[in-house]
Amino acid sequence: MSRQGVFNNLIEQLMALPGVGQKSAQRLAFFILKMEPEAAKNIGRAIIDVKDRLAFCKTCNNITEHKICSICASPKRETHKVLVIEEPSTLHVIERTGEYKGLYHILLGALAPLPGAKTTAPSVQNLVERLEKGSITEVIIATNPTIEGEATAIYLTRLIQPLGIKVSRIAFGIPVGIDLEYADEVSLVKSLQGRREIGPL
Ligand SMILES: [Zn+2]
Repeated sequence: MSRQGVFNNLIEQLMALPGVGQKSAQRLAFFILKMEPEAAKNIGRAIIDVKDRLAFCKTCNNITEHKICSICASPKRETHKVLVIEEPSTLHVIERTGEYKGLYHILLGALAPLPGAKTTAPSVQNLVERLEKGSITEVIIATNPTIEGEATAIYLTRLIQPLGIKVSRIAFGIPVGIDLEYADEVSLVKSLQGRREIGPL
C-alpha cells in the first residue's frame, strides 16, 4: 500500500464507527498519526483484545469471556424474572445497587419499530426463545425513557403478553430523556421497586 493508501485506509476503517463521518475520520486519523507510537498501538491492541476475548452471552447478550455470562450461569439468581435493558452498561449500574436478583436480557439498542411492524432483531428473537421455554413468569421492561425506549417497551409488551407472561415497566423517578446508565443508584432502586404491571395492550 502507498503512503497515501495507508492513511486513506485508516480514514476508511474509522468511518465504519457509528457517528464518524469523513471529516471526523480525517481528524482522528491525523490525531493518530501525531500520537506517541506506543499510545496509538495501544488503541489498536485494545480493539484486537476485545474482539479476541469478548463476546455477547448466548442467552442474554451481556458481555462475557465465555459462551454464557456469569449472571446467567449463577445458581443464586431468581430465574423466573427477566429485566430487559438496552445496553450492557445499564446492567452494571443495576448490579451495583445489589437490589435485583433476577436475570437480564439486553437488546443491544432500542428497537423503535414502526407501529405494527415486526422486528427481526436477533436480540428479540432470542428473548422470545427464552420465554417460550416456560420458566420465566415476569418480564420487567427497563428500556430508556426516550421515544425509542417507550416504543420498544410497547412493542415488547404486545409480543410478550400473548405468551401468558406478566409484563411490568419500571417506574420513572428518572427524568424523561435520560439514559438509565446515567441514573443514580437510588433512583434506579426506586424505579425497580415501583414497577407496575402493564395491562393488556
Ligand atoms: Zn447472560
